[in-house]
Amino acid sequence: MKIYNTMSKKKEEFVPLEEGRVRMYVCGPTVYNFIHIGNARPMIVFDTVRRYFEYKGYDVNFVSNFTDVDDKIIKKAIEEGVTADEISKRYIAECKKDMEGMNVKPATKNPLATEEICGMVDMIQTLIDKGYAYEKNGTVYFRTRKFEGYGKLSHKNLDDLQSGGRSLLVSGQDEKEDSLDFVLWKPKKEGEPAWESPWSEGRPGWHIECSEMSKKYLGEQIDIHAGGEDLVFPHHENEIAQSEAANGKDFAKYWMHNAFLNIDNKKMSKSLGNFFTVREISEKYDLQVLRFFMLGAHYRTPLNFSADLMAAAKTGLDRIITAADNLKFLIGNAKAEKMTEAEKQAFAKTSEYVDSFERAMDDDFNTADAIASIFDLVKYSNTTANEDSSKAYLQGILDLILKLTDVLGIIVEKEEELLAEDIEALIEERQAARKAKNFARADEIRDELLAKGIILEDTREGVKWKKA
Ligand code: AMP
Ligand code: ZN
Repeated sequence: MKIYNTMSKKKEEFVPLEEGRVRMYVCGPTVYNFIHIGNARPMIVFDTVRRYFEYKGYDVNFVSNFTDVDDKIIKKAIEEGVTADEISKRYIAECKKDMEGMNVKPATKNPLATEEICGMVDMIQTLIDKGYAYEKNGTVYFRTRKFEGYGKLSHKNLDDLQSGGRSLLVSGQDEKEDSLDFVLWKPKKEGEPAWESPWSEGRPGWHIECSEMSKKYLGEQIDIHAGGEDLVFPHHENEIAQSEAANGKDFAKYWMHNAFLNIDNKKMSKSLGNFFTVREISEKYDLQVLRFFMLGAHYRTPLNFSADLMAAAKTGLDRIITAADNLKFLIGNAKAEKMTEAEKQAFAKTSEYVDSFERAMDDDFNTADAIASIFDLVKYSNTTANEDSSKAYLQGILDLILKLTDVLGIIVEKEEELLAEDIEALIEERQAARKAKNFARADEIRDELLAKGIILEDTREGVKWKKA
């Protein structure tokens, strides 16, 4: 099994630190709003990586944090007149709902930065004791030049970085010994959440959070550290410097980074305002379609979001769902139980599709080719399964389709969920029924919607609906 390692810029054979186990850390979102579908890309991609390791028999310890203390969270809290804690708790809950909708497995652990401050303070103290960090006026900085390997992940040269950083010194950060140094701890400003530390009442820098949480839940050395490609520098470069300086060991063996999800060929991001939230998308499409769309491209290629590509993904997914439905129908009506000799031979041929699926996934998780193998299997099913097939043959093929789609986290069930337009239509019908004093029908519609997880609220401005 080969993984492209950002560190070596090569595909490398995967050899776990400990046989049969994978320790994996994925940098999670900063929770100050609903996640957008760009944030969903690493969630879907690395959940698929995890699922494939599990399919191969590995025991995966999958840790992904929530960054729940940050300038953007504080800003949003001030805007709404609530605490930062309320904002982060709200959007963690919303994020988990979206992840469930995308069939992303719950992590082994989702540590929260605010619950791990003690460990971060200890790690910063270790760095100070070892001469890798220093305090100035309550702020603690990492002494970047002291760490020899700095730049090894992003392949940046320290002197190039230095000339880029000079302007920073001019703009008032001159208490740093060197413009390359970065913050490990900063004192609080008025009204900000803060914790006690030996240096000041304040909060940790973003990078130290992941170094500490990864160490606490996975150990000093891990197999895979992952995130979007914007995290390579400075976030992951700084994590390496902190972790390796503090622990005296190589940090992660494999560094994996997904490319961006773009819109109109520009990065989808909150700051550019050109994004769709996962929640918005879920009102137009089943989130399985979003997942299938994402996995239709290799994770290291940029992917452009468009209605056309989503429509193509839906058609592709429907093809698999229809084949599975057809098999279920045939199983229900099959006359023979056991496979004939000819069926046994025909079934043996399906191993070709499984092999090509695994070859694709073994080659740095090429989900696009893996999906092509599933389509080949579906085609084989459509041409060989019929009313005369035995139950065992039909079930065997169905199980294979379900097994491979499950590796990709794709649920091959008929779409039951209602779309926004269907809901609106039912609400209109209910209003009309009420006007006609047909309250029985009106109640029936309300119950029908409730059974599908839609709650109606009669407000002064009209009927509103939400998902339960
Ligand atoms: P953030 O909340 O900005 O820290 O992002 C959380 C995760 O989403 C990180 O791994 C980012 O690299 C990733 N990410 C953000 N925007 C995009 C995008 N447009 N495409 C792919 N990944 C993204
Ligand atoms: Zn991180």
